[in-house]
Amino acid sequence: MKNILRSSPLFLTIIVVACNTTQPETAKETKTEPVFPKGEKITSTNFTGTAWLQMLVPNDSTYYTSIGNVIFEPKARTNWHKHPGGQILLVTDGKGYYQEKNKYAQLIRKGDVIKIPPETEHWHGASSDSSLTHIAISTNLQKGSVVWLQPVTDEEYNSGQEPLSSSRPTPYH
Ligand code: MN
Repeated sequence: MKNILRSSPLFLTIIVVACNTTQPETAKETKTEPVFPKGEKITSTNFTGTAWLQMLVPNDSTYYTSIGNVIFEPKARTNWHKHPGGQILLVTDGKGYYQEKNKYAQLIRKGDVIKIPPETEHWHGASSDSSLTHIAISTNLQKGSVVWLQPVTDEEYNSGQEPLSSSRPTPYH
């Protein structure tokens, strides 16, 4: 039986198919170089876990906007906070969450754009199994800078997602 299989065209076909399917997988796993530097480790108590900040555009009286590249290691997140002038997040790598108070946490991924309205209490950070990189654009800073609130507890972090079943139709926070 073995010999019949080895000499058959089917066996060769299996080898060719197997080789072809492994190639794209390898290419997909190749890490691309980050666009912006990792920056400095954030030592602020307004964050839980390990996160890094590279300031790209500091606030000034022409733009009233600051732009920073932020990297959250798995499970790292901001405290609850709000921006008097709003904020826009551009997710450039990884996977994480964005949650507004009294709503479910939304899964956010590379390529997502999140508009955070002024004075909206929220947090953002990495998922438990992936880091998250986003560019944080804080706008209208003449209205005031970020207002930091309480930490996102482990319970909030672990339970804030929308359940997979639709048995619980309304947010429970
Ligand atoms: Mn924010």
